[in-house]
Amino acid sequence: MSSVVKKTDVILIGAGVMSATLGTLLKELSPEWEIKTFEKLPSAGEESSNEWNNAGTGHAALCELNYTTEKADGSIDITKAVNINEQFQLSRQFWTHLVRQGLLRNPGEFIRPIPHMSWVAGDKDVEFLSKRFKALSENPLFQGMDYSEDHRQLQEWIPLMMQGREASEKVAATKIDSGTDVNFGALTRLLFDHLKTQGVEVHYRYAVKDIKRAEGGGWRVKVQNLNNNQVEQHEARFLFIGAGGASLPLLQKTGIPESKHIGGFPVSGLFMVCKNQAIAEKHHAKVYGKAKLGAPPMSVPHLDTRYIDGKKALLFGPFAGFTPKFLKTGSNMDLIGSVKPSNLLTMLAAGAKEMGLTKYLVQQLMLSNAQRIAELREFIPDVKDEDWEVVVAGQRVQVIKDTPQGKGTLQFGTEVVSAADGSVSALLGASPGASTAVHVMLEVMQRCFPDQMPQWQEKIKAMIPSYGVRLSDEPELFKEIFDSTAEALGLEKIAEVRS
Ligand SMILES: Cc1cc2nc3c(=O)[nH]c(=O)nc-3n(C[C@H](O)[C@H](O)[C@H](O)COP(=O)(O)OP(=O)(O)OC[C@H]3O[C@@H](n4cnc5c(N)ncnc54)[C@H](O)[C@@H]3O)c2cc1C
Repeated sequence: MSSVVKKTDVILIGAGVMSATLGTLLKELSPEWEIKTFEKLPSAGEESSNEWNNAGTGHAALCELNYTTEKADGSIDITKAVNINEQFQLSRQFWTHLVRQGLLRNPGEFIRPIPHMSWVAGDKDVEFLSKRFKALSENPLFQGMDYSEDHRQLQEWIPLMMQGREASEKVAATKIDSGTDVNFGALTRLLFDHLKTQGVEVHYRYAVKDIKRAEGGGWRVKVQNLNNNQVEQHEARFLFIGAGGASLPLLQKTGIPESKHIGGFPVSGLFMVCKNQAIAEKHHAKVYGKAKLGAPPMSVPHLDTRYIDGKKALLFGPFAGFTPKFLKTGSNMDLIGSVKPSNLLTMLAAGAKEMGLTKYLVQQLMLSNAQRIAELREFIPDVKDEDWEVVVAGQRVQVIKDTPQGKGTLQFGTEVVSAADGSVSALLGASPGASTAVHVMLEVMQRCFPDQMPQWQEKIKAMIPSYGVRLSDEPELFKEIFDSTAEALGLEKIAEVRS
């Protein structure tokens, strides 16, 4: 072990989209800060941020039915959808800034326009979708959305899904052309390439093994170089734990009070990929359906056009499942190793409450290929199983914590956990995920750099003009910003409101 301690301003653990975003924001705001990244894998964006490990949806609540709920009086609550859309606008603006500055050259490498659609069948769900459409249409952020129950119209929008369908079947869809497919793997790699040109040290095949308070403040991080097994000690004034599913065990190593009473529940995923390019070419949309009764929100089925490796692809899923690993490349001991005296009761309470979810995940895991194809048939009536194969997606570790709703409550969102003194912050959870990375990293900065934020304000506003403004309350500004980001990123502008 090397006894030399190397000091720096910031250490980022993990080279996923979250560290990439935070590193890029900090370098824009304080270029003189020294930043180091440690990543245990050989390159950036290999875990959840990789294009094959997530669904690549630019989540703006344009199609995800679980972001709008039906209230007891039958009206639709769009609060969550509006918030997520607002957050995605921050990502669009920051990426636009990077493109305009020449820091990201070709936006088409990481973002493409693709219509976002919601799809339902049966009277009850058709009624829900119609009400959802009306509620969203009144908000400026969702301008340009269309709704149809007409089979001829739907045949035009989604021919692959309508072929072979009974004319009497009650179905409906919404469609909005300003949706996006984001290759978060490519974005992460591009951002790390850019960071290296800014002097950020990015160490691949370096695994963080331990974290301790440093004398005099900040954090000491024990890192193992996996190429030669040498152990090094590094210190930083600020530490960001952006280790994806592995953030929880690393956060626990800090021992900060905020890390107690938190647990993690891993959910694995599978996608089906269409091997027949002629079929893939027949579909051009991301089409989100409704989650099955009892299914967790992250297992909403969707049939997606994707752009991966420069090629159009068609994916269906995700099918949820269970493994005790916190990362796709993790260990079967991850879950059990994360149970500590400080979170034992929280975990036990969750275990008792979430038996239904565990049962659901195990059932999903046991699905045969034929059963998965049967689910896909609800989207593509004429599906042929020889055209599809299974690929393993990334791991999501859902946060379990004590809330006013009770001990050991499972959370489906993203959680930033920071020390009271702002010297360390960890990102837990995975939804809405990468799409909202800019919003979440700005939250990390607000919590951890309160002294710097006032002097950063002007620069942040220059990069993200709507920072601090709710665009849903400013329709003119929204249109101006949306259309200018669309132009810079090669996306669709807002369509005129249809009758
Ligand atoms: C099936 C699935 C579908 C999804 N779909 C979408 C979607 O459509 N849209 C969307 O916006 N989001 C989606 N997400 C969520 C999104 O992928 C994640 O929110 C995002 O990629 C998380 O980024 P991250 O940087 O936090 O983690 P990661 O990308 O997982 O990166 C963490 C990195 O930390 C490294 N690491 C871990 N431990 C250590 C250690 N001890 N030392 C050094 N390095 C370490 C890992 O190797 C990894 O490279 C999806 C996720 C899944 C699993």
